[in-house]
Amino acid sequence: ARGKLVAGNWKMHGVSADLGEVTSISLAAETAGIDVALCLPATLIERAARAAPGFAIGGQDVHHAEKGAHTGCIAAAMLLDAGARLTIVGHSERREAQGESDADIRAKAETALAAGLDVILCVGESDQVREAGKAVETVSAQLDASLPAAIADPARFSVAYEPIWAIGTGKVPSVGDIGEMHSALRARLQAAFGGAGNQVRILYGGSVKPSNAAEIFAVPDVDGALVGGASLKSADFLPIVEAAC
Ligand code: 13P
Repeated sequence: ARGKLVAGNWKMHGVSADLGEVTSISLAAETAGIDVALCLPATLIERAARAAPGFAIGGQDVHHAEKGAHTGCIAAAMLLDAGARLTIVGHSERREAQGESDADIRAKAETALAAGLDVILCVGESDQVREAGKAVETVSAQLDASLPAAIADPARFSVAYEPIWAIGTGKVPSVGDIGEMHSALRARLQAAFGGAGNQVRILYGGSVKPSNAAEIFAVPDVDGALVGGASLKSADFLPIVEAAC
């Protein structure tokens, strides 16, 4: 059975003064009985990993190359060296602002998994695509094109369905729409990986809050959440973790 994973994505938020939140979250996470992680700015990873050694700290992006002349980029080995255990790839903010393609994201996922990082691969549709009635077909195609060719251990790989129009807006799809999308993505994972596709966790992300977490976690094929704004403060994040327990 797939245990739930609740991961926070701090995006471009957080300096040393915020490490106390990481510690509070890690202490609660150790007794939660589910997997909890925080994907932090690269500058905080090493200190967070030292402050909370029993807790999964992640990055928010990784380069597809092992090393080289890539100014400003971070390699998987660097994330691991700093104490990270996982990374996000393919967040819509990077797909849009950094022009990352599905092929780029596939390459990043493959490099990260091969290096030993767990991966959360993000997919999601725009509001125009949702309104045109093409959300399931668009996101399914996005997943097919950005999935790694193989996954050695399905427990180390997760997909996050994050509708772009739900990120940071307070808008959330109906539980019916979330369920429809997650079951379509499950079918794509089964087509790609056979039985291992059943073991891959599919997270929901986009305006997850303490007030809506329980109903989202009750949807079939929702195996956890990727939480942005509400992961910055333990007072908001821990009730979401509890709702998944
Ligand atoms: P919010 O939870 O702030 O809507 O962000 C979701 C997200 O983009 C997580 O990766």
